[in-house]
Amino acid sequence: MIELLHEQYESDGSTVLFRCAECGYISLSLGSLHGHIERHRGYTRFNIQVPLTKTAMAKRNALMERTEVLRVDETSEISLEEVEGL
Ligand SMILES: [Zn+2]
Repeated sequence: MIELLHEQYESDGSTVLFRCAECGYISLSLGSLHGHIERHRGYTRFNIQVPLTKTAMAKRNALMERTEVLRVDETSEISLEEVEGL
């Protein structure tokens, strides 16, 4: 059972991650991963989404084909210094 929790998903109480099948990019948010995948499909140039029509957007299936779902089964406590970008 996967349920929506503030744009994050869980499976059996474990966090679910979504990974781009093309480059390995990982996101907690399915929506933002699909936005990322759209870039592989060539809809974004210079960070502007073109064309702007709804029909030009990828169908959900085309996006799901490039989406790998990972479940975080194990967590490890780390120190703040180990977190990149903090
Ligand atoms: Zn990618």
